[in-house]
Amino acid sequence: TLTPALFPALISAIAETITEQADAVTELDQAIGDGDHVFNLQRGIQALQAAAPEISGLDWPAAWQKIGMLLMSSVGGASGSLYATLFINLAKNSKDSTLSVVEFARLFDLAVTAVKQRGKADAGEKTMLDVLIPVAVKLQQDAAAGLTLAEIYADVRASAEAGVAATRDMLATKGRASFLGERSIGHIDAGAKTAQLMIAAVSSVLA
Ligand code: ADP
Ligand code: MG
Ligand code: MG
Repeated sequence: TLTPALFPALISAIAETITEQADAVTELDQAIGDGDHVFNLQRGIQALQAAAPEISGLDWPAAWQKIGMLLMSSVGGASGSLYATLFINLAKNSKDSTLSVVEFARLFDLAVTAVKQRGKADAGEKTMLDVLIPVAVKLQQDAAAGLTLAEIYADVRASAEAGVAATRDMLATKGRASFLGERSIGHIDAGAKTAQLMIAAVSSVLA
């Protein structure tokens, strides 16, 4: 079963992919944002790596709560409070510490809904939600259909990639990119890209 004992491996995989793609993501963020997104995420990743031994001994609800609180306090920028909201809501809606795929799909969908509320944003606004929303939908569909974990991971990765790609032609209506209006069109959103990279890293550790 999947327990927070996996957390150190998960956060290492996330750290690795963000470091590897740092220059590419910063280039995206400099085009339509303020260029600090990778730095913001790396602050959070460092805080989570420092706490990884402790987190690995918790149950899921306590681990998610701890992750959310650490992100809230360590990450500046819009992405920090949005990811903190995601994890705090995973914790908040947990009914118990054991986790099936169906239950995780339910929790993830509720957590993404909380992120939408927090950012007053929805799909199609050129943000990380253009990855998180399709992934939440796909996860619920696949879990309900009883697909294998391998099938679910493959589907989730594919929908995250499609979500990132779709941000290119979107007009940004939330976040800093929205200040550019029509000039935001033609660039991939950095926050969508890092959401996809992190989802791919997690699914490759779990697969
Ligand atoms: P900041 O824009 O404050 O510098 P970051 O650079 O860390 O923060 O994060 C920017 C990313 O956050 C964007 O690329 C976008 O994906 C996401 N984002 C910004 N505003 C919102 C919002 N209201 N709802 C959802 N995601 C958002
Ligand atoms: Mg920024
Ligand atoms: Mg900033």
